[in-house]
Amino acid sequence: MDFKYELHHLKGNTYYIDGPTNCGVYVLNDKKEVVLFDCGTLEDGPKIYETLQKNNMTITHIIFSHCHADHYMGSLYITKKVKCKLIASKVERGFFRDHKLDIGFLYGGYPLDEYDSKLMHIDSNDEIDALDQIPGGIEYFHIPGHHYGMIGIKTPDDVYFVADTLGSIDLVERAHILLMYDVKGYLESLDFVKSLNGKIVVPAHSEVTTNIAPLVDFNKQNIYDIIDILLDYLKEEHNCTECTSYIFDYFQLKISYNKYCLILSTIRSYLSYMSNSKMIRNYFKDNRLVFKNDK
Ligand SMILES: [Zn+2]
Repeated sequence: MDFKYELHHLKGNTYYIDGPTNCGVYVLNDKKEVVLFDCGTLEDGPKIYETLQKNNMTITHIIFSHCHADHYMGSLYITKKVKCKLIASKVERGFFRDHKLDIGFLYGGYPLDEYDSKLMHIDSNDEIDALDQIPGGIEYFHIPGHHYGMIGIKTPDDVYFVADTLGSIDLVERAHILLMYDVKGYLESLDFVKSLNGKIVVPAHSEVTTNIAPLVDFNKQNIYDIIDILLDYLKEEHNCTECTSYIFDYFQLKISYNKYCLILSTIRSYLSYMSNSKMIRNYFKDNRLVFKNDK
C-alpha cells in the first residue's frame, strides 16, 4: 500500500495523517497547536513532522496508545525538532524506560541476545507524563488486549482513535496471529469498538470508517478460529511450546526469533484464556505443564 502521509480532515478540529500507522491530530487553538496521537516509526517521524509543518501546525503534545516502536519511534525525531509534552498510560510509561522490559515481558524471562534491541527498540530518557495531562477536552479510554496498558482517545468532535484493537483484513489474513497479551481483554475491547459503529473510528492499521462492525466481526472470528484450532489439537495433551509449533505448521508461518517470541507469547495468552474460562484443563505431567480439551 502506498502511503502519502497526508493530513486528512475528519470533523471539527480532528484530523489524521495516513501511514503504516495512522496518527491522530487534534487542533487545540487558533495558533494551530496540535495534539498528536501516536507518531509512527523512526522513518515515519520526519514525514509526519513535515506534513504538520506544511499545514502550519505545531505539535505541543504527543499521546502514545502504547509503547510499540511503530507508535512511538517517530517521537525521537519530532522531539528533536520541537519541544512537546509526551503522555502515556501508567503501565506503558514503565515499558518506555528500557527495551528489555517489553522483550522480557514477551519472552517471559531474560531474553536471548538474538532478541535484544531488535524487536522493540524502546529506550526513552524523555519525561513521559500521566494521562491527566491530556489537554483540550480529549478523553482517553482503556482498550487492553493487544498490549497491557493500551489506550485510545475520543476527541471533542466525537472521533475515536482505537490504536491496535484490531487489524485490517489484509493484515489478519497475512499474519493469522496478531500479537495479543490478554485474549479476554482483546474480545471486550473489540465489543467496545463495535459499539462505536456509526461514529468515525480510526484504527492504527486499517482504514478510517464509520462502519467498523464488519471489521470487528472479522477480527473476532479470527480469534475464535484460532481457539477452535487449539481445541482440536488439544484433544491430545500438549504443552505451550508444542501448541506454538503446531500453529506455525498449521498456518505455514516462516519462523524467526522475533516471530517465535511474539507467537509463543500470544499462544501462552490463548492457553491462559482457554484454561481460565474452562474450555480446557491444565495439569502437570512429567514435570511439564500441559493442556487438554476433554470435551
Ligand atoms: Zn502494537
